[in-house]
Amino acid sequence: MNRVYNFSAGPSCLPEPVLKEAAAEMLDYNGTGQSVMEMSHRSKAYEPIIEKTEALVRKLMNVPENYKVLFLQGGASTQFAMIPMNLKKLGKAAYVDTGVWADKAIKEAKKYLTVDVLASSKDKGYSYIPAVKKIEGEYDYAYITLNNTIVGTKWHELPECGTRADGKRIPLVADASSCILSEPVDISKFGIFYAGAQKNLAPAGVTLVIIREDLIPDEPIPGTPTMLSYKIHADNGSMYNTPPCYTIYVMGKVLAWIEANGGAEGMKKRNQEKAALFYDYLDTSSFYRSPVEKGSRSLMNIPFVTRETDPDKAGALNKKFVAEAAAAGLVNLAGHRLVGGMRASIYNAMPIEGVKALIAFMNTFAKENA
Ligand SMILES: *Cc1c(COP(=O)(O)O)cnc(C)c1O
Repeated sequence: MNRVYNFSAGPSCLPEPVLKEAAAEMLDYNGTGQSVMEMSHRSKAYEPIIEKTEALVRKLMNVPENYKVLFLQGGASTQFAMIPMNLKKLGKAAYVDTGVWADKAIKEAKKYLTVDVLASSKDKGYSYIPAVKKIEGEYDYAYITLNNTIVGTKWHELPECGTRADGKRIPLVADASSCILSEPVDISKFGIFYAGAQKNLAPAGVTLVIIREDLIPDEPIPGTPTMLSYKIHADNGSMYNTPPCYTIYVMGKVLAWIEANGGAEGMKKRNQEKAALFYDYLDTSSFYRSPVEKGSRSLMNIPFVTRETDPDKAGALNKKFVAEAAAAGLVNLAGHRLVGGMRASIYNAMPIEGVKALIAFMNTFAKENA
């Protein structure tokens, strides 16, 4: 068997022990004579699977009692609409534009309410997180993209949310699709904390939504489809309809792997070590560089470019790099189609050996192409 080091931004690599366990249980899960793919979501065998997955989310992320944990479908992108449809009361929300995913969330939200874009880093190709210290105003919520998968930035310090005229603090909503459980976070600082699973938690197919109960309205805005109501899913334990059963099962295994490897703290240590190694290499290289400002850098997605300034030559060099890396068993290193260059996504499941192998390859490539 030849496994590669997979630097894909998503869907992305999963911990090998998880894949092996899932494979071993494929034909006969726990003596049931069936795979988890084949069983009813309302069966005796399945119930403990979703319960255990939720319990692990709560434990590993220290989710307070007054939050619901929901397993939804439609990807992170469906949350772009679901959030304004469910949280709209005053009719206005604050967003910070930190890249493609934030921009998509903004465009979607504008269909339902007034959006104030408080700051943007578009002026410099989204290579930094704009300074937003305090958010004040009559906002239903304030929205940030915690880690920007495509450009490789992350919020290192959360904006402070002020208090509205009704005496309530503006709830902070975060898209954590590409950084969930990469390090500890204080969930109590957020109204909604959500993530598509396919980067750091599971295969594609489920979106984890952690939402403070008082933010779940009895009725979303008129015309909201039943499936886009948080209350429907909360009241039915994420089983209003068939949930993505198998993905939730694999998520449970990934969470158990995280727990066995030191929980969120353990992941932070592991991720910091990997990222430090890689950024140090980029920052001291005469051939490569990081396009991202030091104070805004992601632990998970690390874009890089060569120092070649001629666009045609740079483009050809990037192509050569990606192809030769793939031939060496280091795959999915092309940058996002919108930004070019290269990008290494080094989520929880990427072992440090993968980062070391990448750096060794980069060294050789630099010598051969300098
Ligand atoms: C991948 C990603 C999305 C989109 O997720 P889908 O599940 O494909 O809708 C949204 N936000 C961020 C930060 C992402 O990384």
